[in-house]
Amino acid sequence: MSDVKYKAGSAIVVSDKDLLALLDKISDSLGVTVEITSGDRNSVPGGGSRTSDHLAGRAVDIHFVGMPDARAFGMLRQNRKAIFGEGTMGFQVIHHGPHTQTQGEHIHIGDNADRNKAGFWTEGLGAASRGHYLRVEMP
Ligand SMILES: [Zn+2]
Repeated sequence: MSDVKYKAGSAIVVSDKDLLALLDKISDSLGVTVEITSGDRNSVPGGGSRTSDHLAGRAVDIHFVGMPDARAFGMLRQNRKAIFGEGTMGFQVIHHGPHTQTQGEHIHIGDNADRNKAGFWTEGLGAASRGHYLRVEMP
């Protein structure tokens, strides 16, 4: 049974049905509770991208409840075939680390099959990589 919840006290909207289905699959296959902390946006927060998939209604920010984001990111990578399927991965998964230029550490998932974006990325794992996006695994 999947367990996906929205951050308490928030008014988050996620309009992308493929993303919601993906979060169910993540929760199911990894046995974790997924907490959504951001979804559709109509403005750019401090440190955010002006071309963000959030603005297009195609992205979520998440945590796994009770688990560090680094471990969650590792689990997503290790289980990528079960979660994202064979072949091209039509999603962009970013671990924004402790030194992120965004508003706090989290996992970002964008529904974006663009080969320049898809795959696994990190940003802000250390002070030197703040604001620098590094692709650590191709789609
Ligand atoms: Zn995001």
